[in-house]
Amino acid sequence: MKLILLGAPGSGKGTMAAVLKKEYQITHISTGDIFRANIKEQTPLGIEAKKYIDQGALVPDELTISMVEDRLAQPDCANGYLLDGFPRTIAQAEKLDAMLASKNTKLDAVINVTVPAEVIMERVVNRRVCTSCGESYNVVSRPTKVEGVCDVCGKEVIQRDDDKPETVKQRLVTYEENTKPLIDFYMAKGIVITADNSSSPEVAFQQASEALSEMGFQKVQ
Ligand code: AMP
Repeated sequence: MKLILLGAPGSGKGTMAAVLKKEYQITHISTGDIFRANIKEQTPLGIEAKKYIDQGALVPDELTISMVEDRLAQPDCANGYLLDGFPRTIAQAEKLDAMLASKNTKLDAVINVTVPAEVIMERVVNRRVCTSCGESYNVVSRPTKVEGVCDVCGKEVIQRDDDKPETVKQRLVTYEENTKPLIDFYMAKGIVITADNSSSPEVAFQQASEALSEMGFQKVQ
């Protein structure tokens, strides 16, 4: 199964990805996570990517696409994957289509996670993430048991630099301009599943899994 997750910053894409990964035992590829790992290791890619990420802008297509091409060539992608945060531009989507076509394959579905715009800012600025396992928290609705310490792995929980309000505003503009047009791009192919995350992540996941089931994809027991 080859899936894409779409959604604005703060839509709950990350939470949806974690559940899909667990329930379908699918390889999860988050381009944001790969960039953050490279920034932590101070690789040349990380140093370059940080310039854009810190401003709420997109990392240039050439860098991002070649990084994803390398990742998709790894053995754990042979039976499918869930792309989280890629594509984010029409150019990336077209390149992905070409990559898949050259292997005589195609995407199965695009899950578009939606929430009302007014909820997004609140969610993102209150978000905290574990620096080690990536678990996501919210200081209001889902705080850690001990402040700054991950409930799951015990490592440090922080606010991402790009989750600060000024950067979030720019990320939302970037989303509207570059990424939102992908919904129509994939609608035209008839492969979009809408997962409404305005009430709860459970409801959103239920919608996604029902649609996947109708397409013949079942959860792993
Ligand atoms: P995320 O964790 O998905 O919110 O990604 C964090 C940041 O990484 C984004 O705001 C972008 O600056 C950068 N990024 C992640 N994925 C992409 C992509 N497909 N294309 C360009 N930049 C990306």
